Amino acid sequence: MTNNLSRLAIIGATGSVGKSVLDICRTYPEKFKVAFLVAHQNIKKMSSLINEFHPVGVALTDHEAARSLRELHPDLPIYESEEDLEYIVTHPDVDHVVFASSGTDAIRSLQKALDADKNVSLANKESIVVAAPWVMPLVKRRDQLRPLDSEHNAIWQCLIGENVRNVKEIFLTASGGPFRTYTREKLSYVTPEMALSHPVWNMGYKVTVDSATLMNKGIEIIEAMYLFNLDNTQVHAIICPGSIVHGIVHFSDGTVKMVASTPDMRMAAATALAYPERLPTMPLVAPLAFDPLSISFYSPDESLFPSLALAKEVACKKGPFPAILVGADEIAVDAFMKKKINFTQIPVVIEKVLSSYNGKAPETLEESLQILQWGKVTAQSIVRTLEK
Ligand code: NDP
Ligand code: MG
Repeated sequence: MTNNLSRLAIIGATGSVGKSVLDICRTYPEKFKVAFLVAHQNIKKMSSLINEFHPVGVALTDHEAARSLRELHPDLPIYESEEDLEYIVTHPDVDHVVFASSGTDAIRSLQKALDADKNVSLANKESIVVAAPWVMPLVKRRDQLRPLDSEHNAIWQCLIGENVRNVKEIFLTASGGPFRTYTREKLSYVTPEMALSHPVWNMGYKVTVDSATLMNKGIEIIEAMYLFNLDNTQVHAIICPGSIVHGIVHFSDGTVKMVASTPDMRMAAATALAYPERLPTMPLVAPLAFDPLSISFYSPDESLFPSLALAKEVACKKGPFPAILVGADEIAVDAFMKKKINFTQIPVVIEKVLSSYNGKAPETLEESLQILQWGKVTAQSIVRTLEK
């Protein structure tokens, strides 16, 4: 940090969360300097971000894309390998690393950034669900790891100044997705196009489909358990249509704290990037028309959305199952998007994969990643048996 200027490396800069983070950087250039940008293969978007933010270096993890980008920006260091990413996230000119990429490829960089005592804002759920036992012990300070996932960001805000031992239970809210009021019969006719039109949030396709099946909330239960060191019985999912309230903490003395705000990822990004300051985000986000009388909560219907029940079972069992869940879900969602299986078959695939594992729990990150891979391969073979 130089003169209150926080120098950022943003992994997943061309994605939906990356855009929210960059909107904050655009609005507060005196507070945030974009030092490094990382994405996978989006040359066009990365090139336009280079021209706008003038980073000191960028990376595209796809080799061919990195080569093409070098032709467009011959004077800029353009990196691509896993070692390059580790170099970026531990760079002395970086204060804060944002993990907003999808998938699990950034886990080792996340470990390196934490180990190097960088501040970290984390949107990527998969890395915590698959690798928490090898990531969380590297967190050195309460303010070092700042969740960007909006519900976890809300819980994190509720816990500022609190002792986590005093938490009785927490509630993560869900909008309920676009099909909250559907019947089971109607759900089987849901198309990818329908699943991609989320009523509240504008997100990447994987997390949008996961929100429609409620698997996203299930994955978030596991994420919260690990991030806040809670037992699975202490983490609950509730529906809050409109997603005004994001997270609720019930403390052991009976006190309840909750965080409510306009549902916009730039709210979470601003709190995580600027902590302990609060930025006036009004130019970016429509102010919340807060009407407490309009807020209501419901229990999610797990018989209609079995993905949530599956994830809760995984949260209880832990061991190899969180990694299997992430792997199987990725393949099942992809198969649904490619119209190989229908919407209600997504949890069917995941359930079959989970119940066919008879190996042991992982003892190392490498073993956890192998189990994730097993989950993907097994899901692919199950999809083939169901293909339309
Ligand atoms: P998007 O699909 O919109 O963006 C993904 C980003 O990750 C892109 O920049 C992509 O680059 C990059 N990327 C993909 N693979 C790699 C890789 N191997 N190495 C480096 N970068 C890579 O996803 P979202 O922004 O929706 O989600 C990102 C993460 O945040 C996910 O884990 C999601 O669950 C989580 N999340 C998202 C929320 C949201 O509102 N969208 C809310 C809370 C959490 P390229 O464009 O070049 O392919
Ligand atoms: Mg969320």
